[in-house]
Amino acid sequence: MTGELIFLGTGTSMGVPTLGCECAVCTSVDPKDKRLRPSILIRWKDDAAVRGNERSVLIDTGPDFRAQALAVGLRHLDAVFYTHSHADHILGFDDLRPISFEWYRGAEAIPLYATDETRQTLEHVFAYTLSPRATYTNRARVRIETVVEHNAVHGVDFLPVPVMHGDLPITGYRFGKTAYLTDVSSIPENSFKLLTNLDVLILSALRHKPHPNHLTLNQALEWAERIGARQTWFTHIAHELGHEATNKTLPLGVKLAHDGLRVEIELGCA
Ligand SMILES: [Zn+2]
Ligand SMILES: [Zn+2]
Ligand SMILES: [Zn+2]
Repeated sequence: MTGELIFLGTGTSMGVPTLGCECAVCTSVDPKDKRLRPSILIRWKDDAAVRGNERSVLIDTGPDFRAQALAVGLRHLDAVFYTHSHADHILGFDDLRPISFEWYRGAEAIPLYATDETRQTLEHVFAYTLSPRATYTNRARVRIETVVEHNAVHGVDFLPVPVMHGDLPITGYRFGKTAYLTDVSSIPENSFKLLTNLDVLILSALRHKPHPNHLTLNQALEWAERIGARQTWFTHIAHELGHEATNKTLPLGVKLAHDGLRVEIELGCA
């Protein structure tokens, strides 16, 4: 089964342009230099006739989620997977409200897949929605599911891939022959067995200058070479990296992604 992956945002936590900055990338007229906060959408069609046959799974709800959802005409979500609980990955949570309401979903709440650490932060930040005592009537109709080894969404298996983000263990995901690893500073040895035989690898690559919590472009290139996917796309990109200029320096099979980029992916077998 094939599906489509859409890069909703490819920017780092501050987005590009970065507020207050007048550098060449922040003032660039190339639309590929405009980067919203990082998120992807995975879409496919199945044979089931539950609310149509269009399936949509989102990874992370960053602060730009509403604008991103409007840009792709998102009307329905079957699940959200969270990588971790930093603001650039969760603060669009409240904009799940309209698409979680009954007129789209019937009685079923949207499942949000999260680790215990991410769940705790979501429950704290969004207590008015997620606390058992929440009384806010317009709250999002969602339920948190703990990420396990295999997480099936309408026949597609989402596997968590543990990665490190500085000192923080966070979660990447593999689905079919694609893996999405954002906010990576290193990949534990044990995770490589989940990254074999990939068509598409999406990996974060922040900038050239070292950062304690993120891979530089050169470090990301080393991991990408070791994983050896057919095509690697870099994401979570800061304003130091101009799209065209950086892409000219990258080897065959590796490119910076950009907002709105669509990639056909194989979802059939992991
Ligand atoms: Zn981030
Ligand atoms: Zn800048
Ligand atoms: Zn982060």
